[in-house]
Amino acid sequence: AQETATKPPRSPHPIDTILSSINKDNIKQNLWKYTSRPRMSGTPGGYELVQILQEAWRSSGIDEVRVTPYDVLMSYPNRTNPNRVQLLTSSGQLIFQSALFEPALDSLSNNSEIIPPFNAYAAAGISEGDLVYVNYGRIEDFLYLTQNMSIDLKGKTLIARYGKIFRGDKVKNAQRFNASGIIMYTDPSDFNRGNSTYPDSWWMPPSGLQRGTVGGDGDPLTPLYPATDYAYRVKESDVSGIKIPAQPISYGDAQHFLSEMGGEEAPLEWRGALPITYRIGPGFRNSSLKIRLEVNNFEEKRTVENVIGYIKGKTEPDRYILLGNHHDAWVFGAIDPLSGTAVLTELIRVFGEMLKSGTRPDRTIVFCAWGAEEHGLIGSTEWVEEYMKVLYERAVAYLNVDYAVDYNYVLFAGTSPLLQDSLYQATKLVPNPDTSSSDKTLYDAWKTRDNSNDLEPSVYYSLGSGSDMATFYQRAGVPSIDMWFTYDENKWDILSYPVYHSAYETVYLYENFIDPGYSYTATMAKLWGVLAWNIANEKVLKFDVRRYATAINKFIGNLKTEFGAKWTKQNVNIGALESAAQNLTTEAENFHQKVQSLQATSSAANVLQNRMINDKLIQFERAFIDCEGLPGRPMYKHVMFAPSVYDSYSDNSFPGIVDTMNEIENQNATAKWEVLKQQVSIATFIIQSAANTLKEVG
Ligand code: GLU
Ligand code: CA
Ligand code: ZN
Ligand code: ZN
Repeated sequence: AQETATKPPRSPHPIDTILSSINKDNIKQNLWKYTSRPRMSGTPGGYELVQILQEAWRSSGIDEVRVTPYDVLMSYPNRTNPNRVQLLTSSGQLIFQSALFEPALDSLSNNSEIIPPFNAYAAAGISEGDLVYVNYGRIEDFLYLTQNMSIDLKGKTLIARYGKIFRGDKVKNAQRFNASGIIMYTDPSDFNRGNSTYPDSWWMPPSGLQRGTVGGDGDPLTPLYPATDYAYRVKESDVSGIKIPAQPISYGDAQHFLSEMGGEEAPLEWRGALPITYRIGPGFRNSSLKIRLEVNNFEEKRTVENVIGYIKGKTEPDRYILLGNHHDAWVFGAIDPLSGTAVLTELIRVFGEMLKSGTRPDRTIVFCAWGAEEHGLIGSTEWVEEYMKVLYERAVAYLNVDYAVDYNYVLFAGTSPLLQDSLYQATKLVPNPDTSSSDKTLYDAWKTRDNSNDLEPSVYYSLGSGSDMATFYQRAGVPSIDMWFTYDENKWDILSYPVYHSAYETVYLYENFIDPGYSYTATMAKLWGVLAWNIANEKVLKFDVRRYATAINKFIGNLKTEFGAKWTKQNVNIGALESAAQNLTTEAENFHQKVQSLQATSSAANVLQNRMINDKLIQFERAFIDCEGLPGRPMYKHVMFAPSVYDSYSDNSFPGIVDTMNEIENQNATAKWEVLKQQVSIATFIIQSAANTLKEVG
């Protein structure tokens, strides 16, 4: 002790500072403040939260905080003439009507600003007549009804249970099969597997319902370009959006409609957990009954604001590591997204403190709180559109945390193959929040609990949509991550946590059932901070291009298994695709070896050489961007990964090829074989181009 006392004090490593400075109580206080009233974009509570964030971020001492306003087309329900679903007799007598408001179940969920039930961008209108049950509303459900059961859905009102796929795709399917409207409800089979419900547990009560957009992504009036003052805006009447009414209801209400239905009994897998006999329809057992869906939503231009904070890099200010989360919530948003926002503000406080004590990152760190994510990723999409050229040149990585925790069990991560190793490295530095476990690091805990026996924890190469990384990844080709803590999917096979997008997502729910003690929430702050710090300071980035080559070879294998026989018959030759993948594998291996030996033999201070390597690593992801976009979907430009056409929450690899094959098979579109051949050649070109970017002289 004597000896150490005489040594000059050593300043702690920044990683240790981050790990030891994140404070649970601050996160808790942030969450209480943020969830004190509804925070939907374009409403007083939403604007107030932007103000709160702006002030907190400014006072933390980071270099700069900007608010970026965009005037965009938003969608809201009519409070004085609420949406409703009615059961009527043929003479128009009302038998039952769905709740006009989601009732308060405790003092926290009691607030006059709670937005009534609606699906954003569902068309205003009335759908009246026979009801048909369409299970989850997936394409296979529709094909079963129309082909196996020969039911004509034209002009029918449909009822679907939520789950399995993005709700907007259910509505698109309904529209495609000429239905006149669709009702969506949360069946207890997917949202209540317990014996009690909120406020006694985390399960969805009979009166709860899921709001959510059914539209596309970005401002509907300015597709592909930023919603600036000078922007050209499409006429509202020319927006090609949803044309039929859609409306969410609770399972308590849905039971009144479903229990009266006629027609054949639903197949086994279609039956939910309500205590009724599930029938398909069309119509009701009592043929004098009819359904009436009335939607009075309106669309209006409102200002949506992002809050963007900057710490300028000390040596490479023109290289950005971006951290993003959205600040708008359907109601109180204690999980989605404000658990993430509470974490982000705490992280900014810690980084601000580090700045004050002289610790500045080498590269620039950008903190983003996005507006109107819930209306379709609007704030992030407009911002990426506005700064596309700069981001394309300068963005190193985009790290998204939407909600930080929806249950305190295991880490879930979607990532670009390039960032997989950076993520592993960071999780190895962060302690396991479950201190009773023998797994000491988050990495080990993740590997134990991820339900796979792989040597490494499972990640998903799935960033197509669902949150704000989508536009960064799909259009700017910025390597991205999206992560949160979640429940054990083997235990509960549910699409989302039960009270998702309902008025019962309160701070009470969060503290009692989601993350009591905030230890997983604080761990997300540590992970996010460590990951960002590492990427902002590594002399040579830890991105491993070999991961991409491995993934591509695997996906080509999948293509061959699924379509190989059909392709042989149609003379579709993928020889060139396979040799491009082989070239990529070789170049990736060579590049990796060269980086290793340069680092071992030459001085780390060789800045030009490091910058050369790093530029290749960053630009490698951009090589997968095809400016022309996928067939019929110019918004999606990443040739390796895109949201599935049938479920925008999930991803296809080789989307141009897979989507075209689906069209050929599901819709008997034999003329599409030429499109398929073109897509194979585009994929080949892109993979060869990616290989070229790794060469010294490409
Ligand atoms: N996260 C929002 C939702 O799931 C928006 C997703 C999107 O528009 O892609 O409803
Ligand atoms: Ca736009
Ligand atoms: Zn969210
Ligand atoms: Zn959400």
